Amino acid sequence: MKGVLERGVLLGQYTTFRIGGPARYLATPSSIEELVRLEKWAGKEGVPLLLLGGGSNLLVGEGGFPGLVVLTRGLMEVEVDGDRIRAQGGVFLGLLSALAMKYRLSGLEPLGGIPGTLGGALTMNAGAFDRTLGELVEAVEVLVDGRVEVLRGEEVDWGYRTSSLKGSTVVGATLRLVPGDRDKIRGEMVRFARLRRQKQPLDFPSAGSVFRNPPGHSAGVLIEEVGLKGARVGDAMVSPLHANFIVNLGRAKAQDVRALIEMVKGRVWERFSISLEEEIIYAGVF
Ligand SMILES: Cc1cc2nc3c(=O)[nH]c(=O)nc-3n(C[C@H](O)[C@H](O)[C@H](O)COP(=O)(O)OP(=O)(O)OC[C@H]3O[C@@H](n4cnc5c(N)ncnc54)[C@H](O)[C@@H]3O)c2cc1C
Repeated sequence: MKGVLERGVLLGQYTTFRIGGPARYLATPSSIEELVRLEKWAGKEGVPLLLLGGGSNLLVGEGGFPGLVVLTRGLMEVEVDGDRIRAQGGVFLGLLSALAMKYRLSGLEPLGGIPGTLGGALTMNAGAFDRTLGELVEAVEVLVDGRVEVLRGEEVDWGYRTSSLKGSTVVGATLRLVPGDRDKIRGEMVRFARLRRQKQPLDFPSAGSVFRNPPGHSAGVLIEEVGLKGARVGDAMVSPLHANFIVNLGRAKAQDVRALIEMVKGRVWERFSISLEEEIIYAGVF
C-alpha cells in the first residue's frame, strides 16, 4: 500500500461542514480494483474504514479518524445508454443531473442540488421535494468479499433517509430515467435550485438537515417553536433561515456542533416530549 496512503490529512477539507481532524490513513482509489485492495489491506491490518463521498452528511470529530479514510470521488466513470445512466459511486449528483439534462433524460431534477455522491446518496436514500433517489434505481453494485455483486433496485429496502445499503460499499448504480424535453428539464432544475437558495443557508458550511423529521412533524418547525433559531455554541449556530440546519460561522469545532445538537434535543424533548434523531452521521474521535 506504500505510495497510495497519505497520513495525517485533515478531513475538514473534505467535509461540507469544514470540520474534522486528521485521518490516520487516506486514499483516493481511481478504480474498483484499487478500492478492493484497500479494503483488503484494512481488513488484514485490523484498521477501521470510513468511506467518504461528498462529506455532506458527516460530522467528523476533531480527533480525526483512527483508521483508513477512502475518498470515493476518484471513482467517477459515467455512461449513458438510452434512458439509463450507469455511474460509479464517487460521481456527484449535480454532475449526474447535468448529464441527464444534456441527454434529455428526466427524473433527477429535484435531486441534482443535493451535494453528495451517488454512493453516499444511495446509502442515505437522499431525497428532496418529495422525490428520493431510490425511486430511480434499476440496479446497485456493491462489494461483497472483494467482489462486485449486483442488486436489483427492488432488492434494496429504501427507507426515509436510510437504506439497507448502509454498511456496504456501493461502487456504482444504474438509474432509469424517462425521456423528456431539455428546456423543460433545465427549467425544473433552475426552479428547484432557486427554492433551495430561498430555504437553505447555502452561504455557510453545514451538513444539510441535522435531524430527521419525526413522524407527523417537521424538525425545523419544532426547533423554531422552542426559540432556538440563531442559538450558538462557539461558532456553531442554528440557522436563522432554516432551523434544522446548523451552520459553521467560521471556526466551529465538532464539539460545538455536538453541544448545540444536545441543547436542541433537550429543549424539544422538554417542550414536546419528542425525541429528535440525528440524520447526520458522526465519524471519528470527538
Ligand atoms: C447544503 C446541503 C443541502 C443538503 N440537502 C439535502 C437534501 O435535500 N436531501 C438529502 O437527502 N440530503 C441533503 N443533504 C445531505 C447530504 O448531501 C446527503 O445525505 C448526501 O446523500 C450525502 O452524500 P455524500 O456522498 O456527501 O455522503 P458522505 O457525507 O460522504 O457519507 C454519508 C454516509 O454514506 C457513507 N458512504 C459514502 N459513500 C459511500 C459509498 N460509496 N458506499 C457506501 N457508503 C458510502 C459514508 O461512510 C457515510 O456513512 C444536504 C447537505 C448539505 C450540506
